[in-house]
Amino acid sequence: MATIHYDANERLLSGRRIAVIGYGAQGHAHALNLRDSGHDVRVGLYPGSPSRERAAAQGLRVLDVAAAAAEADVIALMLPDERIPQVYAEAIAPHLSPGKALVFAHGFAVQYRQVQPPEGVDVLLVAPMGQGNAVRDLYKTGGGMPCLVAVHQDASGEGMELAKAYAKGLGAARAGILETTFREETETDLFAEQVVLVGGVNSLIKAAFETLVAAGYQPEVAYFCCLHELKAVVDLLQRQGFSGQRRLISNTAEYGADLAGPRIIGEPARQAMWEVLSEIRDGSFARDWIAESRAGCPALAEARAAEDEHPIEQVGKPLRDMMPWLSG
Ligand code: NDP
Ligand code: MG
Repeated sequence: MATIHYDANERLLSGRRIAVIGYGAQGHAHALNLRDSGHDVRVGLYPGSPSRERAAAQGLRVLDVAAAAAEADVIALMLPDERIPQVYAEAIAPHLSPGKALVFAHGFAVQYRQVQPPEGVDVLLVAPMGQGNAVRDLYKTGGGMPCLVAVHQDASGEGMELAKAYAKGLGAARAGILETTFREETETDLFAEQVVLVGGVNSLIKAAFETLVAAGYQPEVAYFCCLHELKAVVDLLQRQGFSGQRRLISNTAEYGADLAGPRIIGEPARQAMWEVLSEIRDGSFARDWIAESRAGCPALAEARAAEDEHPIEQVGKPLRDMMPWLSG
């Protein structure tokens, strides 16, 4: 059973200067939630970043990365994972001294040895289990995003307590702070985004859409039933689990799904899941991704361009434009 905390001693963070490096999806949520929880926060960004103005407009002090890292005791690296090694080497490592702590929102850089922090520094993971905007919105409305916490290097002897205090500052104690390891977080997070959340779901939607269109059905109808309707059933899953979802869908949908589901996700799909997992575990996925990002992400650019041209995007855009309440 997982160890889950619903409280933490936030005093471990009081009197400590926190630098949130990066002000994107996670960075802005961390900086604002920690600040609103009463902590001493500054933001570190590169000189020309358009996010400087946004952070300053929200009342935060913005510094260059090296200056923020130099004056802070707790340095949170909220950068794209593939940028972490360079920023860390150039602007953060020179300012690390014993007693400081590094916080990551995902274990990739540490687990795959993209950074190797010196002894004397706590290396902590505080990984919200959801998008940055939701981390901020839930906090403002009195809720919280569940967070994973882990300790890679416990120089202070209080690493786990500090990670929990940071997670509480994000609002996570309201929802649950789960203890994990860098390895477990990294491997499960990569697996889930590849197999379910993005890779699996997006491929399923596109394949179903293509099947209906090839069979002669109208693309607009295929778009609504294969993509648009997904949100409602996933919301049900999140709020009420599988049995709650079953109670609220039609009996026809339930009966048909029981027959078709295992045919769609059969032995070949399960076999592929094991293959994906082993490439994550043996480091070969990480090696490929690091090489791709060093080369300037050519495969990613090609995939983005190809997807923009996909008929589901062509048909979806004007349909979404007619539903302005979906924007945001
Ligand atoms: P984003 O791409 O949304 O934001 C990155 C931020 O870093 C931006 O503010 C960007 O500046 C800034 N940045 C880029 N390069 C530099 C640099 N050289 N120096 C200083 N700042 C720089 O990243 P995410 O928030 O998505 O990811 C941050 C971390 O959180 C990652 O480890 C990720 O795996 C993890 N995570 C992300 C989740 C999410 O919701 N997206 C969910 C859970 C974990 P600018 O604003 O100018 O572009
Ligand atoms: Mg995650």
